[in-house]
Amino acid sequence: MIDQVCKVLSINPLAKDIWEMTFSADQLVKIYKGAGQFIEILGDKTWDHPLRRPMSISGITDSTMSIIFKVMGQMTSRFSSLKVNDEINVLGPLGNTFSHPSENETAILIGGGVGLAPIMNFLNELKSINNHVLTIIGARTKDEHHLDHDPCNGMYLTTDDGSIGDHGTVMPTLDRIINTVKYPKLYACGPEPMLKAVQQFGLTHDIPTELSVESYMGCGVGLCQGCVLKREGPDFAEDSYQKKYTVVCKDGPVYNAKEIHFD
Ligand SMILES: Cc1cc2nc3c(=O)[nH]c(=O)nc-3n(C[C@H](O)[C@H](O)[C@H](O)COP(=O)(O)OP(=O)(O)OC[C@H]3O[C@@H](n4cnc5c(N)ncnc54)[C@H](O)[C@@H]3O)c2cc1C
Repeated sequence: MIDQVCKVLSINPLAKDIWEMTFSADQLVKIYKGAGQFIEILGDKTWDHPLRRPMSISGITDSTMSIIFKVMGQMTSRFSSLKVNDEINVLGPLGNTFSHPSENETAILIGGGVGLAPIMNFLNELKSINNHVLTIIGARTKDEHHLDHDPCNGMYLTTDDGSIGDHGTVMPTLDRIINTVKYPKLYACGPEPMLKAVQQFGLTHDIPTELSVESYMGCGVGLCQGCVLKREGPDFAEDSYQKKYTVVCKDGPVYNAKEIHFD
């Protein structure tokens, strides 16, 4: 991990309250391991906001990185007002990566809300090595989507209000397309209720499943213990603190669905 002062190269709105920012990252990309990893951005040089904000890497070239973010509060609002050539301090790359499907497995990628950021990065990574992939991206309404609903090319959009794509959450679409795939492997990132539903689906149908968890996070490097999750399974029941619990920033954010428990 390193920290680099990065120059904003582009910043554009993609959908309602959702932005994409690309910045110079020649040092960071040298130690990037793959989709799933995230960065921590310090967007304020004063002590008003001393905590960095975690953001998944949504895209990468040999000298740049991109993020897709939703304006949630003060810092993401500040990010959305950055201009080309402004500087941000970026710590990373942090965390682990999604593991690739085996040769006979078909990846089904599922993104909810801004959980689409690492999912889009993984989609491009798998496409670059010619993997066949199906992708489901869910949002509440059409305004929050910037992609096209294109089932013929394996891209399914869903909306809670039915304003674009399939009506409902990502789950009915997953339930439908799962039967078209012989050996599926699920990958998901999004809000916790969605992750719980995908976890339950994977466990019930005995499908290998990886979940990228976006917990509240402070330091991003395992010190503050702000992003603790309970590890699942009898192996951990009588074990030490470190084995019963996991910190998302260091051990994650990507977990085997069998391994973790959401309270
Ligand atoms: C590993 C990881 C990757 C992430 N990747 C992305 C990404 O790619 N794009 C993106 O838009 N966001 C991502 N997030 C979430 C993002 O870090 C927060 O939305 C951001 O820190 C909010 O900062 P803020 O100052 O704007 O809002 P704050 O003022 O800190 O919070 C505003 C509101 O958002 C809620 N909130 C803040 N953080 C979270 C969270 N992690 N989960 C649920 N609610 C939260 C708060 O409760 C509050 O209601 C990621 C988080 C993690 C841990």
